[in-house]
Amino acid sequence: MDRRSFLKTSAVGSAAIAAGTILPASCSSGKGGVKDKSKVKLNLSFQEGIAPGNSLAEKLDFMEQLGIAGFEPGGRGLAARIPEIREALSGRNIKVSAICAGFDGFILADDPAVKQQFDTTMREIVAAAGELGSTGVIMVPAFNGQEPCKPHNQQTRDYLCEELHKLGEFAKEHGTTVILEPLNRRECFYMRLVADAAAIARDADSEGVKAMGDFWHMQEETSDYGAFMSAGIKYLQHVHIASRGRRIMPGEDGEKDNYVEGFRALKELGYDKYVSFECGCEGDRETAVKNAVKLLREQWAQA
Ligand code: MG
Repeated sequence: MDRRSFLKTSAVGSAAIAAGTILPASCSSGKGGVKDKSKVKLNLSFQEGIAPGNSLAEKLDFMEQLGIAGFEPGGRGLAARIPEIREALSGRNIKVSAICAGFDGFILADDPAVKQQFDTTMREIVAAAGELGSTGVIMVPAFNGQEPCKPHNQQTRDYLCEELHKLGEFAKEHGTTVILEPLNRRECFYMRLVADAAAIARDADSEGVKAMGDFWHMQEETSDYGAFMSAGIKYLQHVHIASRGRRIMPGEDGEKDNYVEGFRALKELGYDKYVSFECGCEGDRETAVKNAVKLLREQWAQA
């Protein structure tokens, strides 16, 4: 190839790449691109400790006034709470989003008794999640401190995918999913990028196995946009949000609390699940929560 034709080819190449940066938002396809990203809604959700209030009803009243669409309860004791949660949500515009963990044991436990604890308690929570119409039950395969744990090798990864396949099929039968949450190397070196979780979900080969991203843990990612895009609409089932310096209310860490690039990916993907608050709070809770919701809606509009 001479220099002239090389330049021509490269010029076409760069034009295509430049167009590519705009195209995902304007293409419509089954792969998750949307025609008009301005139509993609931000569905905010709160874990149980986020809203001020002395009872679940008071918390839900506060959430409803703010237009919060989802409620993320913890998984511990969930089966026993089904009537209470159903009753509290009845007649409201709030649905159960994901369920946050709450099981005993862990899936990569080397001790069969601990693995059995996980299998039993996780399946109880998954079944309850299905009854509540939840998007899925969040889980981590093993925290760094959980011992004895199966060794970090190829055989263990294959085992994890096989076990997740069975769990995912169980979740699917119950109309819900299990959602892998990547953390960071200090908490779970095994799974710390959204792409890691999505790849494990893919290899588990069950529609009942999904992945999520948590803006707090995503400090390990090189790009918020790239992280969500790497999971894509097929695997991305939930998002957690917190401030990005101290894991408190979004906005309480000032300039650091920028979610625009991540939100841009969610909008381009046509993400229709929840962005759920999992965080502490430094200031007056009522004020901090209202400010956080306002900030996130502004950044969503901007994305
Ligand atoms: Mg989280």
